[in-house]
Amino acid sequence: MRAKRVVIIGGGAAGLTAGVLCARAGCAVKMLEKTEVCGRKLSMTGNGRCNLSNLAMEASCYNEAAAPLLEQLLGRFGVREAIDFFDSVGVLVREEEGCLYPVSGQAQTVTDALLHAFLSAGGEILYRRQAKEILAGEAADDAAWMVRTAGERYPADAVLLASGALSGPKTTKSTGDGYYIAEKLGAEIVPAYPALCGLQCEEVRLPKETGLRVFATVRMRSPEQSILAEERGEVQFTAGRISGIPVMQLSAACARLLAEGKAVTLSLDLFPETADADFEDMIQARVRDAYQQTLGDFLRGFAHAEINRMLAERFGLSLTQPLREGSAERLFALLRAYRDIRFAIGGTDDYVHAQATAGGIALSSLTETLSLQSAPGVYAIGELADVNGRCGGYNLQWAWTSAMCAAEAVTGQRFPWRRG
Ligand SMILES: Cc1cc2nc3c(=O)[nH]c(=O)nc-3n(C[C@H](O)[C@H](O)[C@H](O)COP(=O)(O)OP(=O)(O)OC[C@H]3O[C@@H](n4cnc5c(N)ncnc54)[C@H](O)[C@@H]3O)c2cc1C
Repeated sequence: MRAKRVVIIGGGAAGLTAGVLCARAGCAVKMLEKTEVCGRKLSMTGNGRCNLSNLAMEASCYNEAAAPLLEQLLGRFGVREAIDFFDSVGVLVREEEGCLYPVSGQAQTVTDALLHAFLSAGGEILYRRQAKEILAGEAADDAAWMVRTAGERYPADAVLLASGALSGPKTTKSTGDGYYIAEKLGAEIVPAYPALCGLQCEEVRLPKETGLRVFATVRMRSPEQSILAEERGEVQFTAGRISGIPVMQLSAACARLLAEGKAVTLSLDLFPETADADFEDMIQARVRDAYQQTLGDFLRGFAHAEINRMLAERFGLSLTQPLREGSAERLFALLRAYRDIRFAIGGTDDYVHAQATAGGIALSSLTETLSLQSAPGVYAIGELADVNGRCGGYNLQWAWTSAMCAAEAVTGQRFPWRRG
């Protein structure tokens, strides 16, 4: 009996993982990769260290539309299965505050291990082959599907579309090819926008090349100013831009509101660990003892000088003015503002500065094994689907989860380590 022919479009995190599993199960696997290397993006993840998963793995860490699917899939192809899979390709994993990394501390070793496992299992990689279209195979082809590149056609019994999405530096050449390939096959595409990125904010007027960092709780506010979500951590400011992990975590939700034409405000609390009453006591006591000081001297211990300057300006107060000469009411309003510094958000970073893509192939267009409803036997895995997770290893876990799920459906073989 002839081996099942599997064509994988894209040699990134998801494609390589599915490739290893399908090749090990005895399929004849061809991987078409449009660039001259596999796993370029994977090799730069986690600042070169590859945060490949997270022990605090929950469906709620993904976009709302994806949560029900993740709830179902993470129970079968979750963190433990990913760790066991990596063990099987020789990658040992260690934990750091819940985040999982390869013990090597080097993302490139993950790519190399996947490539080695794929090739050792008999997989074939065809570089500089950009898939253009997936056509229905004709009787003469003796194949359900035919993948077309500029000059060739590859017959397949199953196709795994793993061509990634739009995020990442230009070098990753992430151009969302999979969207139009899937759309031609009848899939619905949810409009895409950058996720896990910084946000544009004109009110951050810092000299070019100046950066500042503050520890804060960041609250995302609706047009009516109610709090929609909040995150805590180190926030970074550069001219016209706010970033840092808490801002990245909120960025997809901000982008969605902006895309709907709604106003988005972020508010920063620079005293996130202080109870309201304690903060009030603290500012009353400090002001009482400092009436001889200038505002600038007084605020020195509150925040970075640029933040103090910006807030004083917002409240129309001069930093050189002695406290005793100003209005007490306005001074206390300024001090309370350190718990709610508001910034109107104008937009998000572009895809080049984003680590994930929101939107993509609609999950309603996929079956529970991630095959396109309109094209049985063509599977969509990885970032291409409308799944995006939090920062911290969630997006790579989706790449592994979706690859394991589709590979099991393609091969009909249950992987030895799989639960349930
Ligand atoms: C800077 C950065 C850091 C990140 N760090 C982390 C992290 O630490 N942890 C985490 O969980 N996530 C991280 N991510 C996100 C993570 O990298 C992605 O979620 C993941 O790589 C997606 O895998 P994928 O296989 O779906 O797509 P990709 O990795 O983008 O792979 C797609 C592949 O398909 C190829 N391709 C595209 N079109 C075609 C075509 N038409 N024909 C043939 N081949 C094609 C591409 O060249 C590419 O090799 C990071 C992202 C970035 C940009």
